[in-house]
Amino acid sequence: MRFRPTVTIWFIVLAPFLTFLMVAAGSFWGLLVLFASHLLLVAVTLVPSLQGFGPVLTRYSTSAKTAWLTIDDGPDPGTTPQIIALLQKYGARATFFLIGAKAAKHPELACMILDAGHAIGNHTQNHPGFSFWRFGPRALAREIDQFEATIFRIGLAAPIWFRAPAGLKNPFLHPILAARGLQLVGWSARAFDTQILDSSRIVERIKRSIAPGSIILFHEGHRPAVCLEALDQLLRELSAEQFRLVLPPLRELLPTGHSAPWKTSLNAIRSGRQFARMDQYYVVLAEALQERLAVIADHPLRGQNPDAHLLRLKQASERIEQLRNRLPPDADPMLVHYLGRMSFSKALEFVRERYLS
Ligand SMILES: [Zn+2]
Repeated sequence: MRFRPTVTIWFIVLAPFLTFLMVAAGSFWGLLVLFASHLLLVAVTLVPSLQGFGPVLTRYSTSAKTAWLTIDDGPDPGTTPQIIALLQKYGARATFFLIGAKAAKHPELACMILDAGHAIGNHTQNHPGFSFWRFGPRALAREIDQFEATIFRIGLAAPIWFRAPAGLKNPFLHPILAARGLQLVGWSARAFDTQILDSSRIVERIKRSIAPGSIILFHEGHRPAVCLEALDQLLRELSAEQFRLVLPPLRELLPTGHSAPWKTSLNAIRSGRQFARMDQYYVVLAEALQERLAVIADHPLRGQNPDAHLLRLKQASERIEQLRNRLPPDADPMLVHYLGRMSFSKALEFVRERYLS
């Protein structure tokens, strides 16, 4: 993914020059331009769903009665196992936006989440809630990368979802996320469940703003009793209304034409863990096939090191081999056939049509 500055960013960058030119020409309206650009900067930083600095996922497109439940600030031994049990009881799925430092303390909980069929997201290493928005590029990158290092150490694949602490962002964040293939996730339904003590009021607030395709923001580890009570009630009421909480398929989450966004999941493959979601597997397989085809098409040019090309070819082939060994049992026989015969372009076409379109 490549980062492209938004119109908002251009405006904020160019406003001082515009102001200077206007004031130099004798018009003090230029000061208004400067004021507007500052206002915009503050608003986009402080309002989580504003997209001025780059895309923020706040909902997904679906006509089914489903929503995406996201649970921040874990893992926590006082709530995570109970939450997993509740989700299981009602047949619901959720994405846990974990704090790296807590995951390092309770790696078994991070694994438990994935083993139960849920997903995880990056919620920074230390959750600097009050200072994240004023971090410079280096500090932002450190929070994000340390989280990934923690997750790798546990033997898990880095997730592509990122949520900023308290949802606050700044103009440096999007380029850093784009360079890592990360997607910023906001929300469309929140309950202020860390501040409200009455669990039925929390549920009422969430349900008021819920619709098909909503992203629900929920927290754990703050007030365990309230959190578990509210979640139990929410799951009970939603399931009575046949409203399901799911991990939405990628095609519903990301705009069409979006390049395969999963973090290169070599780590997941090496560690031998199952993919938390099967569509993740097929995206990674498509990536590997694409890479292999690119290497073949990319003949070593004069002056280029043929050994390096050979090594790339070997690595690309190995990666496909590893993925082939981990094909899900219900994979289509046609795909098995293509991969067995090393028909990579056919296999790629098939994966795209069958699993990713
Ligand atoms: Zn948080």
